[in-house]
Amino acid sequence: MKSFVLLILTTTGLLAALAPPPAAAATTAAGRPNILFIMTDDHAAHAISAYGSVVNQTPHLDRLAKEGVRFDRCFAVNSICTPSRATILTGKYSHINGVTVFNRFDGSQPTVAKHLQAAGYHTGMIGKWHLGSQPTGFDHWTILPGQGVYFNPTFLVPEGKTQIQGYVTDIITDLAIDFLKNRPTNQPFFLMCHHKAPHRSWDPDEKHKAMFAGKHIPEPATLRDNYDGRTDALHENKQRVFYDLTRNDLKLVPPAELTGQARNQWLNVKPTEVEIEVNGQKKVLTGDELNAWKYQRYMQDYLACVQSVDDNVGRLLAWLDAAGLRDNTLVIYTSDQGFFLGDHGLYDKRFMYEPSIHMPFIVRWPGVVHPATTTDAMAINPDFAPTFMAAAGLPVPPDMQGRSLLPVLQGRTPADWRHSFYYRYYHDPGDHNTRAHYGVRTDTHKLIYFWKKDQYELYDLRNDPGEMHNLYNEPAQAEVIAGLKTELLRLKHDLNDTDQWALQPPPDPGVDGPFPDKSTNQPAAKKP
Ligand code: CA
Repeated sequence: MKSFVLLILTTTGLLAALAPPPAAAATTAAGRPNILFIMTDDHAAHAISAYGSVVNQTPHLDRLAKEGVRFDRCFAVNSICTPSRATILTGKYSHINGVTVFNRFDGSQPTVAKHLQAAGYHTGMIGKWHLGSQPTGFDHWTILPGQGVYFNPTFLVPEGKTQIQGYVTDIITDLAIDFLKNRPTNQPFFLMCHHKAPHRSWDPDEKHKAMFAGKHIPEPATLRDNYDGRTDALHENKQRVFYDLTRNDLKLVPPAELTGQARNQWLNVKPTEVEIEVNGQKKVLTGDELNAWKYQRYMQDYLACVQSVDDNVGRLLAWLDAAGLRDNTLVIYTSDQGFFLGDHGLYDKRFMYEPSIHMPFIVRWPGVVHPATTTDAMAINPDFAPTFMAAAGLPVPPDMQGRSLLPVLQGRTPADWRHSFYYRYYHDPGDHNTRAHYGVRTDTHKLIYFWKKDQYELYDLRNDPGEMHNLYNEPAQAEVIAGLKTELLRLKHDLNDTDQWALQPPPDPGVDGPFPDKSTNQPAAKKP
């Protein structure tokens, strides 16, 4: 049976070499798969019904999960847009690829797009890029400048700029399909299709806005979290649904007489009372009634943007089907990080808490991935580039810090697969006053260190998946904490993240023996 399959592949390869393949050829040169990487911006896994969402239904993403594998533990190692994109391209952590915050990506460094292009892939980048420099390693690119806009967006192309009328999610899908239609069919393709949605300011198109207008969205259990027992970080942060959404976020309409700067000032106010109309009657909302209304307004718009993404993923999958490309195309759906959907009272991301770092990651690859499966294998975004390399049959460059997920995709998670990963967020104080921190997440626990304040949080994820109970100061946890600090240090060392370690060695609270020797700034010897 095995040799029969090989014979078919060989024959197809010969035919491809002898004559131009038909336009709808399902296989590609040497049988290498096409790779379609669809990534959204800020789409939380808990707003996908395949992940158990209680707030929306996403039939097209669910279809992908039914036909592929759903990763339940995929994480961003620095949960913010630009660094995640640089990590995905390079397979490296922020301190190695140089993009820790919003700094410009140095496009002269190796990327997975360059490697695949050199190996004969036709490479494309469509949509949100957000890396400051021009794309390199792509045969074709059309990108949004910076964050881009939702309506009638301008795009950057190698020749300059072009503005396209319409809604950004529809347009990016159209451009992705154009790329696929116009590709050379004697090469496999690698396409990064990056949506702007559902990033703030959450501007839906009319069709999807209507689907969520007035719809009641269930509140998360931790919406009114009062941060008891947590460090200063949550208390001081400014990404709170009740207090930090602006009139612009809430889609309140400025008085007609306001123009220019006065209009912008009005829109940037974080309102403490709002006048709405109910059944033709005006009503002023304050206090918790206003808080509940703000959550609804935020989520209605966010979910309407997600619904357009889902429709457009469906459109792209249908196009692959019609073109006969389904069977030899590896399709991935992910987001550059997770997002708080009112969890802990928050919107946005940045923090090392689960809703922020958890990336949706769904992979369909007929004949390789078993349909309708899930995996708990811990994946991180530095793994994506090595995975693309391995899927293309190429060696993983030794300087990539992630690990190929290919065996996990094949249902054979290696015995030595990781059980922990290192996280680090740099932007401080940043747009939302979220303090810099780093930490380690294992299968069962999470230790977060807000190093500028020398404050720790410890969570037992088995008993407290919502991360409400900081156990760091409980004497019974001393051994767990010591073990996590050892692991944190091991990961930092292995990943060559030595700067904070050297500059700001954490103090010795009695249980952090493995932290650096302050006299030499060298790591202390590991306990046997
Ligand atoms: Ca993002």
